[in-house]
Amino acid sequence: MDSNPAEMNWEELKQAALGCKKCRLCETRKTVVFGEGSPSARVMFIGEGPGKTEDETGRPFVGRAGELLTRIVENGMGLTRQDVYIANVVKCRPTVDQKGFKDRPPDPEETAACSPYLMRQIQLIAPEAIVTLGNPSTRFLLQTSTGITKLRGKWADYNGIPVMPTYHPSYVLRNGGEKSPLRRDVWEDIKMVMNRLGIPVRSPGT
Ligand code: SF4
Repeated sequence: MDSNPAEMNWEELKQAALGCKKCRLCETRKTVVFGEGSPSARVMFIGEGPGKTEDETGRPFVGRAGELLTRIVENGMGLTRQDVYIANVVKCRPTVDQKGFKDRPPDPEETAACSPYLMRQIQLIAPEAIVTLGNPSTRFLLQTSTGITKLRGKWADYNGIPVMPTYHPSYVLRNGGEKSPLRRDVWEDIKMVMNRLGIPVRSPGT
């Protein structure tokens, strides 16, 4: 098998990621969370990395933050998780001091090691829009150090694909959850994506 992700087909890429030991996160992961959804999705959601539940199940965004993202996709956009594609910048769970207790964002080395998988996923899916969730995925795709608060709600570009940065669902949950104004901001950002893709906005919110 070719070892360059940029030249792999979807199945080769998945198998390579599932057996990957390119960074230290392989030492503490339970499973590799490759991503989930349609390989021909019109929209991709990209977070930072798997959390505890994701590490245990091998599925992205299935904990509390995942429930919020699922509501955005299903109740807000009128789609299913199988209609979109959900992935992360790194495929294995990063935790503080690699102890497996407290999640943390991926560090630059881990991001550099893992990002070829994500870049190839984006290339193969060729979505019409990407929604980046939080700082790590936004900063990686847009190659910026600017924070999400300044970037959210404004269209950006990754290799010709429109990118809409918005808050990570975990951040929304940590800052008021259902009643948080951040949640309204996320919905405003998602509506811009829906408008761009011609998805009718029927719901008053998520
Ligand atoms: S995080 Fe990515 S690069 Fe690191 S071991 Fe997992 S799949 Fe490989």
